[in-house]
Formats: sequence, structure tokens, C-alpha cells
Amino acid sequence: MSEPQQKTEFDTLRIYGMSFDFPFGHKLEFDPRLTREGGSVAVKSPAKSVVFVTWGDLRKIVKRLPTPAEHSKYSMERAAKTARGTLKQTEQGDVEINGHSAAYSRAEIEMPRGVLGPHRPNQEIESVHIHCDRTSRYFVIYTSSDWGGSGAPGQENVFRVVTENFKCH
Ligand SMILES: [Zn+2]
Repeated sequence: MSEPQQKTEFDTLRIYGMSFDFPFGHKLEFDPRLTREGGSVAVKSPAKSVVFVTWGDLRKIVKRLPTPAEHSKYSMERAAKTARGTLKQTEQGDVEINGHSAAYSRAEIEMPRGVLGPHRPNQEIESVHIHCDRTSRYFVIYTSSDWGGSGAPGQENVFRVVTENFKCH
């Protein structure tokens, strides 16, 4: 027996020269201080998973992290440090987003096993880093299993939807 094919409807956010699709009816939360130069938007599904889209000044970032791959590696290491965990099983690859060569990565952060208290499950992070020279901005799209991951069974994979039609310029 095959499941009836359900057509997914999308909404599109268009702001400051960037745009992306997200599943119809998902909630958006905007950083109140967002500007064309920098900010973030959270896309929240009814299943509570969250995908963040953040952007900022590319000229500042490329001084230390000249490529999206280096930028991505740095972000993953920082996420592990923030979570007080250890980065393991990093998977990296190049993807094309809006004509740019962008860095995709998926990483697992192993949480320390405490003497007392419950063991925290490992955290899985998925991200795409884009360096847009056309608008002098970098863009990072990311999600974490701590917020429900990229898609619970039966749920739309929000990370994929946002990434697929992402336009940074
Ligand atoms: Zn661009």
C-alpha cells in the first residue's frame, strides 16, 4: 500500500535581498535588531524543531576564515566548546547554493558523562555556510538535534526546504 502523495505548500520569506522557502504555516522568529548587514531568523515547526538562518559581515569573517569550509569547521568546534562536549564524526562536503560553492557539514557532539545526573544524549548539528561576495555577507543555516533536529518522522525536513531554494543575493 502506498501512502497518498501529499503536496507540501511553501511560504517564502524575502528580506534584505535574501529569500528562502519554508513549510507553510511554520512560525518565524526574528532577531529584533536585524539589519541588512546582520541578524538571524528562526524557522520553527509545530514539532518544535528549529532551523536558524543567520548572516553577517563577510569582510570581517574572511580575515580569519577565508573559505566557507574553514568557517564551517570553526563553527562546529565552537558549538562543541559551547556545549562542553567533544566534536566527533564530522562529515563535510561542498554544495552549490545560489551559484556559490558553500560548505555543508553534519557533526556529532559527544557529551561528557557526568558522575552524577543523567547522561545527556549526543547532539547532532547540521549546517551550511555560504560566503556571498555579491552582497559582502556570510550566511549560516543550521539546526541541532537539541531542538528536534532537521526532521522528525512524518515531519517536513525544514533544514532541507530552507537550504534548497536559498537566495543570498
Ligand atoms: Zn550570494
